[in-house]
Amino acid sequence: MRKPILIANWKMNGSLHANQALLVRMLAKLRPFRKAVDLAICPPFPYLFQVRDLLGYTGIALGAQNASSATSGAHTGEVSATMLQEMGCRYVLVGHSERRSLYHESNADVAARFRQVRSAGMTPVLCVGETLEEREQGQAMAAIESQVQAVIDETGVTGLEGSIIAYEPVWAIGTGRTATPEQVSDTHRALRQFLESHYPGMGEAIRIVYGGSVKAGNAAELFQSPEVDGGLIGDASLQADEFSDIGTALA
Ligand code: 13P
Repeated sequence: MRKPILIANWKMNGSLHANQALLVRMLAKLRPFRKAVDLAICPPFPYLFQVRDLLGYTGIALGAQNASSATSGAHTGEVSATMLQEMGCRYVLVGHSERRSLYHESNADVAARFRQVRSAGMTPVLCVGETLEEREQGQAMAAIESQVQAVIDETGVTGLEGSIIAYEPVWAIGTGRTATPEQVSDTHRALRQFLESHYPGMGEAIRIVYGGSVKAGNAAELFQSPEVDGGLIGDASLQADEFSDIGTALA
């Protein structure tokens, strides 16, 4: 059985004051289903320390939004996986579509970041997803498979073991437009088959979560398929009530 997981991606939002208020309320609201659902919060780098302290021993994990493909040295502005591990991160997002599109991270670059996260002993959350154009041209799975294949090329297929894949169609992120439950379920199933063809058992074992305009109002139908193991939440993770209501759809 795959345990559901709900991950908050705060993106570049927050302040010391706002984070504190949000987390105090959120922790109280998340308490009832902490055992049934794995929970993680990914704040911007400067707030990792603050969020780690506020999470304390709640069992809710700390995550980061990216990690460098290098280990150390002359990489101004980058943060290494080892540093994140030292800060108490358990999860690290890699290949978020905003990193791919706005900061030109290639499949190979994302794969190198994935490897660093793994090597530092954390769980990479590999974000994949097609653009609207790719979907309309019937190329959605090809795009997603090449994103996953780059990681397999870098780490071998066993590098994916124990990691998480987040399916986030680019056209559904921050747009208020979600994939239909059928699109999500079909894509997750196809992804599992792709992994299964590489390594029997992998497709069944890996957790695949959906992200893209998930809200309290649509979470239940998006998560209803047994193919969907949880969610990666942007906007709605900045509101305690909304985020915890999404969590109840998984508990
Ligand atoms: P939204 O939930 O704001 O659409 O963002 C999804 C996302 O990109 C999470 O990583």
